[in-house]
Amino acid sequence: MKYLAVTGGTVSGLGKGITISSIGVVLKACGLRVTSVKIDPYLNCDAGTMSPFEHGEVFVLDDGGEGDLDLGNYERFLNITLTKDHNITTGKVYSQVIRQERRGDYLGKTVQVVPHVTDAIQAWIERVAQVPVEEDGKPADICLIEVGGTVGDIESMVFLEALRQFQFRVGVENFCLVHVSLVPVMGTVGEQKTKPTQHAIKELRSAGLTPDVIICRASSQLEPATKSKIGMFCQVSQNHVLSVHDVSNIYHVPLLLAKQGAASILLSKLQMMHKFAEPNLD
Ligand code: ADP
Repeated sequence: MKYLAVTGGTVSGLGKGITISSIGVVLKACGLRVTSVKIDPYLNCDAGTMSPFEHGEVFVLDDGGEGDLDLGNYERFLNITLTKDHNITTGKVYSQVIRQERRGDYLGKTVQVVPHVTDAIQAWIERVAQVPVEEDGKPADICLIEVGGTVGDIESMVFLEALRQFQFRVGVENFCLVHVSLVPVMGTVGEQKTKPTQHAIKELRSAGLTPDVIICRASSQLEPATKSKIGMFCQVSQNHVLSVHDVSNIYHVPLLLAKQGAASILLSKLQMMHKFAEPNLD
């Protein structure tokens, strides 16, 4: 199993869910089988008790699970059927660890965030990645993992630490990290600003994670100079800085990514180039 994790920096509501769903579409168009896991770093066990005014649509899954609206994006974009276990929340993980502690499963150990909660997160991801999400019942080749929230938030730290450990647990050749960031344009100067992205990557690196690909959300297409500046300051190849600018229809986002060679970039990092086929997005 290969894992592709996506984090977000600078601000929330960047379009991470749409971006990761679109990555899934591009990978599927190469003939790969894709599943996805959404991590929500809040203490609610699910989105069922959250106000739609605050949180947006509560997406109800086939098994009755009430999840984040991104699960709906994944199902609609990727034509898959997810379960409530595909939505991990802080509340769910802590409830599980506390239940196990009460049962005496930790055999007298002091139960701690690291390693017990981080281990529970990693085991959960590995388990749910194997759950078939397509009608034919076969497991996926790649599991997309979206970490909700913004890098640097206290809430998401435990999940970032779990992912930091996870890349070694599954092997670095089986793990790819994509970071979605914002590139704003200063009205008066009209210049695409890279500093928020530079700071977001610094924050990510301080959590021990190194991005393989940086996807920049901007109002218009990223200038070549902006890409090279982000590449240089954030220490990624300039070709691995991709532009996902505003489009009139979100179903165009997979095309944007495919045109920039996202499939070959991601598959070569995951050492899956033998599976590469030019994405067929007709
Ligand atoms: P996040 O997961 O970061 O909270 P979402 O994926 O839910 O963000 O997207 C937030 C909003 O931005 C949604 O209404 C979505 O339709 C819109 N959006 C995302 N990407 C784009 C894009 N490239 N162009 C235009 N709108 C977009």
